Amino acid sequence: MKSLKKTKIIATYGPAIANSSKVRQLADAGVNLFRVNCSHGVASDFKKAVSIIRKGTARVSFSVGILFDISGPKLRLDRFEGELPIKQGESLTLTTGDTDLEKRIIGVNHPAIIASVKKKERVFIDDGNIVLHVKKCSKDKIELEIGNDGVILPGKGINLPDSDIKIPTITKKDIKDIETACECNADFIALSFVRSGDDIIQAQQLIKKYGGDQHIIAKLEKKEAIDDIENIMLLADGVMVARGDLGVELPFEELPQLQKRIITLANCHHKPVIVATQMLESMRFAPRATRAEINDVATAVFDYVDAVMLSAETATGKYPLETVQTMAQVALQTEKFSKRNHVDVPVEHHLIRSPITHAIAKSVSSLQTEIDAKAIFAFTSSGFTARLISNLFPPQRVIALTYNKRVLTKLTLLRSVYPILVKKPSSFRLMVNRVEKVSKKFFFTQPKDKVVIAGGLPFDSNADTNFMMIHEIG
Ligand code: PGA
Ligand code: MN
Repeated sequence: MKSLKKTKIIATYGPAIANSSKVRQLADAGVNLFRVNCSHGVASDFKKAVSIIRKGTARVSFSVGILFDISGPKLRLDRFEGELPIKQGESLTLTTGDTDLEKRIIGVNHPAIIASVKKKERVFIDDGNIVLHVKKCSKDKIELEIGNDGVILPGKGINLPDSDIKIPTITKKDIKDIETACECNADFIALSFVRSGDDIIQAQQLIKKYGGDQHIIAKLEKKEAIDDIENIMLLADGVMVARGDLGVELPFEELPQLQKRIITLANCHHKPVIVATQMLESMRFAPRATRAEINDVATAVFDYVDAVMLSAETATGKYPLETVQTMAQVALQTEKFSKRNHVDVPVEHHLIRSPITHAIAKSVSSLQTEIDAKAIFAFTSSGFTARLISNLFPPQRVIALTYNKRVLTKLTLLRSVYPILVKKPSSFRLMVNRVEKVSKKFFFTQPKDKVVIAGGLPFDSNADTNFMMIHEIG
């Protein structure tokens, strides 16, 4: 068995990997979660995707999670027929009505776009490849001046970086997709274009209504979200640096510092953080990554993300397996050189919910100078202990042993943490036996090797984590 990388990989499901053997190959190569992208398809497509993912990952060594990505108010042009070549200085009209290419009039998917923009604001089409300036607004159309030459293709995305968009963050389709995510027992729901903490609360209420227990990942891709980052960080269960839209909604030169700032903030809040989009973009068409892309993946690993994400690379790319292998190799190699430890992460005292668990997590994570432990084992019922240890960046991998299936798959996202489902041990001896078995299987431990164990005693109570021990393999 290969060495376990600490950084998790999320692969977007799509036509390029749409059968269970491909899914299995990718999981074996290092994918820890699959993303079902709700921007493409309807409930029946998502249910089919989930069933293929579950079939493909049924027999892998460590559980694989499922993340439903809810599209939010993704603004798009009409899916008209043909294309429209454009030149700088020409005019174009966007309308609430139908497209008429001859007259250079194009419809949009959310009519409220038209009411959202004001004179002099900018409109971006196709990830900012085409920039337009608003000249004139009326009730049902806006007239724009084209800023650069290009070709407008059907269905391309629209970004309104200067506008206050009058569309709710959670659309009608999103509500249906959240219901489907709950029905499918997805582990995570990612919310696109989040603008404030209130959006997270609304999603929590919907999940509750549909009987779900999904963790919410706030996709940070709007300026408003960056402005309300503290609230979002407190309310969401995790965040994503969604660089695709973020790099269009904000000046692209702000991306590097934003990525670092968001990761550090998430680390301080003990919340998982994902870096997404174009990480290995060139591998959609080529079997080898560019040097810049390899550095980009490594930078995220050095910055201490929990997970890195692949989008079109695995969903529609020509080399999904090679892409995952590349990402896994770069992560594993880079982790050997990233040596942050808990003292580098300022812990804000108001965020310490359970001082005893914190104290144990801290001790467990800082033994390296005295003891060369091969692994850390955390018996955890809610996953909280594993999350804390993960966030204190011990040099070892963390095996989270949990009794709860729903907790198990949510741990798939955490850096360094590999979850295993176990029965509650009925005695100390049985606990140690279980640890020894897993240690031999995954870490090839020999007699006299040391491992660290943390958990809550007595086992038959629901005690929070209150003990740690250093165990010598017998
Ligand atoms: P998307 O989100 O792929 O759903 O647009 C990620 C991003 O914007 O980076
Ligand atoms: Mn996006």
